[in-house]
Amino acid sequence: MSGTTEKVLEARDIGKAFMGGSRIALGGVSLELFRGEILSIVGPNGAGKSTLIQILLGLLRPDSGSLNILGVDATRHRRLIAHRINYASTDLSLPYSLTVLENLRVYSLIYNLCDWESRVHSLLSDFGLSAIANRRVGSLSTGQVAKLGIAKALLTEPEILFLDEPTATLDPEVSAHLREFLRKRVLDTGMSLLYTSHNMREVERLSDRIILLGGGKIIKEGVIEDLLKNDSASDLEALFLDTVRKTASW
Ligand code: ADP
Ligand code: MG
Repeated sequence: MSGTTEKVLEARDIGKAFMGGSRIALGGVSLELFRGEILSIVGPNGAGKSTLIQILLGLLRPDSGSLNILGVDATRHRRLIAHRINYASTDLSLPYSLTVLENLRVYSLIYNLCDWESRVHSLLSDFGLSAIANRRVGSLSTGQVAKLGIAKALLTEPEILFLDEPTATLDPEVSAHLREFLRKRVLDTGMSLLYTSHNMREVERLSDRIILLGGGKIIKEGVIEDLLKNDSASDLEALFLDTVRKTASW
């Protein structure tokens, strides 16, 4: 288990409803993330994972609750910490008429990076994108675009990285490579990672701790080995399915 005792994120009682309050997406979620920790949020479709991440990123305003990120009240002063966090999701589209290299260059300009060249070239190499650096994004496979999205998020060397289902479109070999890469990055730099995935084996291998979200509430949370022991479950997938079936009223 990696991670320190330094909290980089603390959310308290986050609530969010859509459709004029009739659809409750989050019903009071509290969580903490520590420096150098990998925390995965798992849960069935519609559980509220993406809504929670959007709120933690400051892209959606919560109806209630408080959020402290890197020592700052992030609901009020997001600008102070925006450059220290980053995000990738397959829902996020990149300029498709630009090449891979141009995309990273444009984002480097947006992020105001002076040492962009070395960062871009090492990320192209880390993500196996060097050979397609001059291809337009519109001509790439969904997996290649996903890798580019994550490379883009790492340009700023964020202290907290949010990845919402980054491996949904990746093949098993690329997913395994990404997992190793992320683990190493976390160990080398002390980056904290908040991750979502439907692949329980992947979550089991990657995470220090998990939160199981269902119907906008935390159903279970903790270190995977402890959760498995408590529920006498053979693996995370069994625990997930058992828990989801028991609370099928979601
Ligand atoms: P997950 O990422 O776990 O699949 P989401 O956070 O995307 O779940 O969605 C949680 C709930 O909030 C779902 O019921 C979803 O339909 C609803 N929801 C999310 N975004 C919106 C939106 N913009 N408008 C209305 N309902 C939304
Ligand atoms: Mg989602």
